[in-house]
Amino acid sequence: MFNWDLPWYYKEIEKFVVEFGLNCVTPSVWKPRTIHRLIRSRDTTEPVSDLPPAPATRVWENVSSPSLTDRHKDIAWMAVKGGLPVRSFMHSRGLCPHRECPRGCPAEETIYHLFWACLFAQRLRGALKQEMEAHIPYPNITYQSVLYGLFPKTHSVEAIQGCWRILCCVKDILLYARTRLVTNGKVVSREACRRMVHNLLRDYTDKDNKEREKEEEL
Ligand SMILES: [Zn+2]
Repeated sequence: MFNWDLPWYYKEIEKFVVEFGLNCVTPSVWKPRTIHRLIRSRDTTEPVSDLPPAPATRVWENVSSPSLTDRHKDIAWMAVKGGLPVRSFMHSRGLCPHRECPRGCPAEETIYHLFWACLFAQRLRGALKQEMEAHIPYPNITYQSVLYGLFPKTHSVEAIQGCWRILCCVKDILLYARTRLVTNGKVVSREACRRMVHNLLRDYTDKDNKEREKEEEL
């Protein structure tokens, strides 16, 4: 075993070595890639509500997919963790006097309602049916697809990624529109939401093109 008896100014490194059990790693293999692999091999999958471990791993891969923007990763993560500031969440913490959907639906505003059951969400999805169908058949898009990026039946990685991106854009705009409504009383129309989703998708296409150009230059 390598002697990791380090001077005081390297104490933080020593803590890191002990915490991750890396004291058996000799300096000759002490390379970022090796260390990363060793640490990742000890990763455990955080459970996702009632999902078995295999789909749960898939969910966390989707949530942290490098094909998403940081904002969409954050929204997806908060949605899976149940931490979005919808009325149900805020009311249960004494931060909002109402629990109902701000659009007047006779239902509590939960994440499920905001992203799936609300008539507004259903209609926005309907308005983007063609865009989603370019990747995954519309009947295969379920609440688990919206929340987790899981789709019934088998689809290619590209199809899942394409549809998951659209659903992440839809979640972003639904969240934006409900926040405008709740905080300023401003109604963002379904058509305006559809256009905003299209703008976000265009940003993704631009990002892809730039990355492709950069790869070609190399
Ligand atoms: Zn509603």
